[in-house]
Amino acid sequence: VAKLTGLIIEQVRLVNEWANSRANAIALEDTNARFDAFMSIASHELRTPLTTIKGNIQLAMRRLDTIMAHNHDLPEVVQEKLLRVKNPLEYAVHRVGVQDRMISDLLDTSRIRANKFMMIMHHHNIVEIVKAAYEDVKLSAPERQIMYHLAAEENLMVLADADRIGQVVNNYLTNALKYSPIDQPVELTITREDQNVRISVSDHGPGLSSEDQQRVWERFYRSTVVDVQYGSGVGLGLGLYLCRMIVEQHHGQIGLTSQQGKGSTFWFTLPLVDATREEATTGNNYS
Ligand code: ADP
Repeated sequence: VAKLTGLIIEQVRLVNEWANSRANAIALEDTNARFDAFMSIASHELRTPLTTIKGNIQLAMRRLDTIMAHNHDLPEVVQEKLLRVKNPLEYAVHRVGVQDRMISDLLDTSRIRANKFMMIMHHHNIVEIVKAAYEDVKLSAPERQIMYHLAAEENLMVLADADRIGQVVNNYLTNALKYSPIDQPVELTITREDQNVRISVSDHGPGLSSEDQQRVWERFYRSTVVDVQYGSGVGLGLGLYLCRMIVEQHHGQIGLTSQQGKGSTFWFTLPLVDATREEATTGNNYS
């Protein structure tokens, strides 16, 4: 198990280094040809080892669990050592998760450029989508205080791609946790405004300068003055860009209010629908 763990960590480190160096190069030389060439390599070069790494981690964890389940009488010192092996495995799981998000964001960006960023629209209760994203983030950050306020009806129907809207909520919450101090709460609120539902995430973080407020929705934009307080510092500056693309495809509005030194509120709205209307699949017009 220890050998396998070492192997996994090394694989993760190499993939991570490669991805970061390539992504930085792309961010600097963002030309169509280079970007498209990168994307076709990336999908193979990153996805394949990632699958292997995931498989190895699962194997190592299963072996560790089996050893521990069948050997209750092992000396305490050995049991402690086995438990210590779990830390790097959990670290590897975390790194793979971050890597997976980065690859997905890059692939989505490439889909937008190729006009293949499709939403699969169905009628959903937005409250359920938001709540599911909230529960997910809460599980991944048990030590953080995340408040949930539903200031509207329990049932608000929208025509939406549930996974994509979940991605927007997840991104808002993850950013709020990432950029605000660990002891500060984050608030998620659902309100109704006439024929729209509004989802907002507020934090007590550093806030954004007026230049940053305008530019955070751009592809690859990352503020140089805001420090990561929690979780992974890795980021490509694609999260909010993709949020904007997703919300625009849903005919919603997106925005933020922020005061430096006080905090930020990121929000979006979606039009409420009559659930008897037809469902649809939409493509985009971005290039
Ligand atoms: P990433 O977080 O990967 O850099 P995003 O597109 O999600 O990319 O965010 C872009 C930038 O916006 C971040 O780099 C950060 O500077 C800023 N930002 C996002 N959310 C917040 C927040 N809640 N508070 C302060 N700054 C934020």
